[in-house]
Amino acid sequence: SQFMVMFIITRPLSTVGKAKPPAHSLPDKLTEKLRTDPESISAASVDFGNIVRETPLAVLHPSCPKDIAALVRSAYHGDGSSFAIAARGRGHSVRGQAMAPGGVVVDMTSLARHRGGGGGSAISVSWSRPLGYYADVGGGQLWRDVLEETLWHGLSPVSWTDYLYLTVGGTLSNAGISGQTFRYGPQISNVYEMDVITGTGELTTCSPDKNPELFYSVLGGLGQFGIITRARVALDRAPKRVKWARMLYSDFSDFTRDQEYLISKNGRYQDNALDYVEGMLLMPQGPPDSWRSSFFPLSDHPRIISLLKQHKIVYCLEVAKYYDDLTQNTVNKDLEKLFEGLNHIPEFAFQKDVAYVDFLDRVREGELKLTAQGLWDVPHPWLNLFVPKSRIADFNDGVFKNIILKRNITTGPVLVYPMNRNKWDDQMSAVVPDEDVFYTVGFLHSSGFDDWQQFYLQNKELLSFCEDTGIELKHYLPSFGNEQEWMRHFGSKWRRFRQRKARFDPKMIFSPGQKIFNRNH
Ligand code: FAD
Repeated sequence: SQFMVMFIITRPLSTVGKAKPPAHSLPDKLTEKLRTDPESISAASVDFGNIVRETPLAVLHPSCPKDIAALVRSAYHGDGSSFAIAARGRGHSVRGQAMAPGGVVVDMTSLARHRGGGGGSAISVSWSRPLGYYADVGGGQLWRDVLEETLWHGLSPVSWTDYLYLTVGGTLSNAGISGQTFRYGPQISNVYEMDVITGTGELTTCSPDKNPELFYSVLGGLGQFGIITRARVALDRAPKRVKWARMLYSDFSDFTRDQEYLISKNGRYQDNALDYVEGMLLMPQGPPDSWRSSFFPLSDHPRIISLLKQHKIVYCLEVAKYYDDLTQNTVNKDLEKLFEGLNHIPEFAFQKDVAYVDFLDRVREGELKLTAQGLWDVPHPWLNLFVPKSRIADFNDGVFKNIILKRNITTGPVLVYPMNRNKWDDQMSAVVPDEDVFYTVGFLHSSGFDDWQQFYLQNKELLSFCEDTGIELKHYLPSFGNEQEWMRHFGSKWRRFRQRKARFDPKMIFSPGQKIFNRNH
């Protein structure tokens, strides 16, 4: 550790010019947890996107939240200077958002591995009035582990992402969306309380009643205001099984009309409501199933493929309804009722019945397959957008039917599904379009190492189309190059976002990879 302290003292931090971490103020125990070996550095220099590379000076492997607080305090109290710090969940960002060029990356999953490390490392389930059941979960925990632990108690979180090997702190810094969002809200709407280490190194508990400004800042806050070490997540009784259905459409307006009808039934305790509504494009250049889940029976692939050849783009509605012992006799009737009057192509409706955990963890199988083929760690020039309902038909005509078909390079999943704005809380930092219903559109491209630019150009072209035709979209998992674009993204929320930054991270220490604030100003 002596060597490491020397190393840190003598090497300048690139982002902050003459700044350096005051190693003398780091407790010995902490310097032992700071790694500078090539493997640690290179692991923290890349992310799932595999496009951006930024090298940190060191990686902290904390065993408890106090380790992180000590690091942040040393950055904050540096003699007239500071160094950047980025919490890194699983680094499943695609544009360097969890990187800290010349600073310190905090490996949050290391907290989760130290279960004895006190607050922030474990998953514990409790009940209290008026919250009901909830789980206290470390910020570095994977949602997959939260699911497993809560299921032991017959309970489960209600709002998910499609893929569960993401961290609680990472998804809460964005929103955490999936087919459940229309009814249960995004994951950020299902948190009661958090422990956050702010930019002065203080560990603060916050909730809608206690330090509410910090609470709302952090949710959807892109890591700008503090490091989440614990979140109190809402739980409900876990269902046992899931009726999982897909229906195919050749007509986009039929598809969106049905999606919008289905998400209009969104009462939290409403019986005749679905639990999950998504949708995606199917195109002839890709197989009917993507890595996100294998669903269609193999024997049906040929007729689906000929439908795709005939129509070029087919829209696939994907829905799910949960059930348990109490509702197993009524679930089919409930579904029949919900599906009455839907306008899909009648002979293209498919249904499966699967265990709840298999439904939620449906993307894992694809991940393991791609990993085995060496195709998981390729570049991912993803683009995720929120499109107002009033312009989604224009988006279909201009983007799906024109740009995507013409370029003919999209083989990965393209998701399209609506959500209700009233399930989002405007006090939070997350940004969504200003309409009651908006769609998420996710272009989840995988590319080769030499050709990711063509997807980047396609992304640029479709964004220009939206700009030219006045489609006021918002980016999800945003990435912008300059302050002007960030101002535009946040719109009326920008002033407050900046004020919150000045209050909770005055030295602009956190998550520099988001490129929102420039520390050299
Ligand atoms: P990271 O990428 O490591 O971090 C993201 C940002 O949050 C960074 O700025 C980081 O500094 C900051 N951060 C991380 N941890 C903390 C913390 N504890 N406190 C404060 N800030 C922190 N998203 C969805 O909403 N729905 C989906 O269905 C979905 N599916 C996905 C599927 C795949 C295969 C992948 C790769 C991503 C998917 N995502 C989805 C995106 C995902 O939500 C983001 O990548 C998110 O950033 C979570 O990933 P992570 O935990 O690795 O966080």
